[in-house]
Parts: sequence; C-alpha cells; structure tokens
Amino acid sequence: MSTNANFEKFDPRSGEVLASYKNFSQDEVFEVVEEAHNAAIRWQEFGFTARKRVLLRWASYITKNQKQISQLIESECGKPLGDATLEVSIAIDHISWAAKHAQQIMRRQDRPSGLLMFNMKAQVQRSPVGVVGVIGPWNYPIFTPMGSIAYALAAGNAVVFKPSEFTPGVGKWLADSFAQVAPFENILTTVTGLADTGKALTQSRVNKISFTGSTRTAKKVAASCAESMIPVVLECGGKDPVIVEKDADIKLAAEYALWSAMANAGQSCIGAERVYVVESVAEEFIDVITKMAKDLKVGKDYGPATMPSQLQVIQSHLDNAASKGAKFLVGGSDSIKGAFVEPVIMIDVPEDSTAMTEETFGPTLAINKVTNTDEAIRLSNASNYGLAAAVFSKRNGEKIASQLACGMVSINSVFLFAAIASVPFGGIKNSGYGRIHGAEGLLEYTYARTVVKTRFKIPLKFTSFKRTKLSEKVLTTLIKKIHGRNLKNKS
Ligand code: NDP
Repeated sequence: MSTNANFEKFDPRSGEVLASYKNFSQDEVFEVVEEAHNAAIRWQEFGFTARKRVLLRWASYITKNQKQISQLIESECGKPLGDATLEVSIAIDHISWAAKHAQQIMRRQDRPSGLLMFNMKAQVQRSPVGVVGVIGPWNYPIFTPMGSIAYALAAGNAVVFKPSEFTPGVGKWLADSFAQVAPFENILTTVTGLADTGKALTQSRVNKISFTGSTRTAKKVAASCAESMIPVVLECGGKDPVIVEKDADIKLAAEYALWSAMANAGQSCIGAERVYVVESVAEEFIDVITKMAKDLKVGKDYGPATMPSQLQVIQSHLDNAASKGAKFLVGGSDSIKGAFVEPVIMIDVPEDSTAMTEETFGPTLAINKVTNTDEAIRLSNASNYGLAAAVFSKRNGEKIASQLACGMVSINSVFLFAAIASVPFGGIKNSGYGRIHGAEGLLEYTYARTVVKTRFKIPLKFTSFKRTKLSEKVLTTLIKKIHGRNLKNKS
C-alpha cells in the first residue's frame, strides 16, 4: 500500500527540487476512477460534435500556452527547449486529428450478411469502453501519453492519467489545462504518484489500460490487468535498427541516424540503437557519422539522463561491449559525466552483447558492417524487440521495409511516422502490442457491438425447435453449392 505522502521532483540537470506532488494512494485512485465513470456517461452522451469542439479548444489552449508547457518539460526532463516545443507541437496535432476523425472512424458499418443469411441486416457499432487508465513515461511526457489520452477522449471515454514520477508536473498541467475547456469535471484526471499509484490504476475499475514504458513493467501491468480481464495496450521499448544500403545518400543517413540515436539523450523508444551498413559504403558512413558525433555539444544538443538509474544501464552496456571486443570511435566506457552522457559510437559490436540485445536508452550507437542487405534484414529481425526501424536506400527502401519485423519503418527519414497522426504507432514482440494513433489507435478505446436484424421473413427457420427437414435440406444444399466445389481445383 502506498502512503499518502507527497513526493519531490528534481531538475535532472541541477538536482534542484522543482516542486512537490501528491502521491495518490490506492483508495484515492479508486475514488478518482469511480468519479471518472460518472463523467464517462455524460461525456459519451455529449456526442461527437460537442466533444470535437472541446478537444479543439484544448488544442488551442495548449497552443496558446505552448511556451509554458515546453518550459515545464524542459525543467522536468532536462531536454532542450526546442525539443520540448517540437514535442508539444506534435501532441497538439494529434489532439486535433483525433477530434476531427473520431466520428468517421466510429461510424456504424453495414456488413454483407452472406448468401445463407440474405434476409438479415448486419451492422457493427462502436462504443467507447468507458474509463481508460493511461500510464505514461518520462521521456516524451506530453507526446507519448497524448497518443492515448486524445484518442480515448475523442472516442467518448473518460481518462485517468498516471504520469511518470519523473514528470508529474507535466501530467498535472495536462489535466489542469483540460479543465480550462471542459464542460464538466472528471473527464480527464491526473493521479500523480510513484509505481504503487500506477499499480493501483491497474487494480481499479478502469475498462482499459494504455501503458508506455519498459517491457519489464509492461508485463507486471498486463499480469495485474489479467486478474480482472482489463484489456491493455502496451507500448514498450525497442532496439531499433537502421539499415544503410549501398545506394543510400550517406550524408543524410549519417545525419538522421545520429539524431535518432542521440537526440533527447538517446531516451527515445523509437531511437536508433543499432546500424547495419553495407560493407561497400561502411567506411564513408562511419567516417561521416563519427565527425558529426564529435561536434555534438552535450548540455546544448541534448540534456542529461532524466532518470538517474538509467546511467547504470548505459554503463553496463558500454562495459559489456568493451569486454566483448567492440571498438569505440567516439567516447567509451568513461563517457558518463555526472548526469550527462557524452556521445558514444562503437563499431564491430558483438551481436550477443547487451549493447545489441537490450534497450540502452542513452546517446550511444552501435554500428556493424554487413556483407549485403539480406544480412542486414536478418540481423535487424533477430532482436527480441520489434518497435521501429529506418532504411536508407534510394531504390530499395520499400522492398526492405516490407521484410522488417517491426511496427513502423521510415525510409530515408527517422521518427516522422510519430508525427503523422493518421498512421498507427506500436510494436511487436517485446515492444508490446496494440496501437496508438490513427484509426487503429482510436479503435483501441472502443468495443465493437454487432447488431443483426431480420429484414424480411422467409419460410425457413434455422434457430427454432420448429425447424423442418426442408430447412435443413436447403441449408446443406446451399452449403454444398457454395463451398463444396473447391476440392476439384487441385492447384
Ligand atoms: P517503467 O516502465 O518502470 O515506468 C513507466 C510507467 O509505469 C511510469 O509511469 C511508472 O511509474 C509506471 N509504473 C511503474 N511500476 C508500475 C506498476 N507496477 N504498475 C503500474 N505502473 C507502474 O519505466 P522506467 O521509468 O522505470 O524506465 C525504465 C526503462 O524503461 C528505461 O530504461 C527504458 O529502457 C524504458 N522506457 C521506455 C519508454 C518508452 O517510450 N517505450 C519510456 C520510458 C522508459 P513511476 O515512474 O512512478 O515508477
């Protein structure tokens, strides 16, 4: 049981206490969820047009106060203000997209009833699930949870949001800002706290949990939710590969791969962690990216590790790679300086080292040469993770992309699928399941209700004790006619 004390949030750059936040107890979380259930009924009745108006006003409110929220993100995460501003902009765009498309995505659909049931009308309706619990991470504290919050709200659900203990202020700001435009209370509530607060949410009466964070915690969340059959969306980490083909624009590939790996101090689930570069262009690629990495200014281009315990993970991956024979071209095992990590570029990194198998979540990049594209694809897919990937090739990008075992691929670019609201975001394997963003993401916060109706009566009854032999004969004859002829086709 968590205590009902407050907890303090520090600036990761200076260690200075920024503010103190309420640590919601289990009972308090349960109470908030009950209030959210009442709000959910009213919010659903509110209808698509009215909800759209509220959500678009929220998007405008955040836009108007973009500087304030960006500064808060900067101080809680330690990231540069420009990165925080970019994150807020993309989050705003997601709210707007979800608000504008919810009605169309959730429209009733007529479905063909088939020859056997030709007298029936068949329909699929969509309803919001009720109350969605969102458990968010600290690396993109507005962009990431917004992929669940905005879509769940647009679908007609109430949301209870548990932000990471490293970004409680951003979480609170989101609920406070929504309150400025909300027609009534408890549509979006934030419960700040530590891990036990998140756990309480998974044990509450929420109808769905949308989680972003580590695979380890995702498994705990899924296990807890299984107790009461609460469905979950799990957006976990990755070990994202970048494939550089021989016909790639090498400078562009180096520039984007470097940014993908190092921006936000490498704390991006969709950030590059491994590069597979085809031998014939490897030297040029490594030369360009190494020069670029040496020019990076730590503290200006990216900030410190937001979560201090991550530094041990980064250190252990660097040590493991070094002990297994990796060569360091930029930085090395001594690159961690206080809360900051200087850029690290390694080559010839053994595939069984933790720097290649586990999520590092730091500004490090492992580059391995491959003899051809097939090898690059095979090694990319050998990971236990399957979140995203990037491919650099002028001619073969789409062909390579189609063979990658992951949820998202960008060709000659990095990250940008996250900024396109219409496409789903999520992974496979240890990177999780379910999707946020796009129609698929919105539908996660709904359930399908099938409704079938008799359009006209026919003299045959199948679901009655008054069923006749004639009905059975008609049924078997029809089935034979429709499905019985395929055995004749041998090929
Ligand atoms: P966690 O997965 O532990 O935390 C993510 C969220 O889950 C936080 O809000 C956390 O709350 C909450 N939480 C923790 N324990 C529970 C629980 N038992 N039940 C319900 N909710 C819980 O990630 P960390 O912040 O500890 O980071 C660890 C690693 O996860 C990183 O090193 C990185 O590899 C990965 N990660 C991946 C992210 C991604 O975008 N996919 C984002 C963040 C981390 P609280 O913060 O209060 O503990």
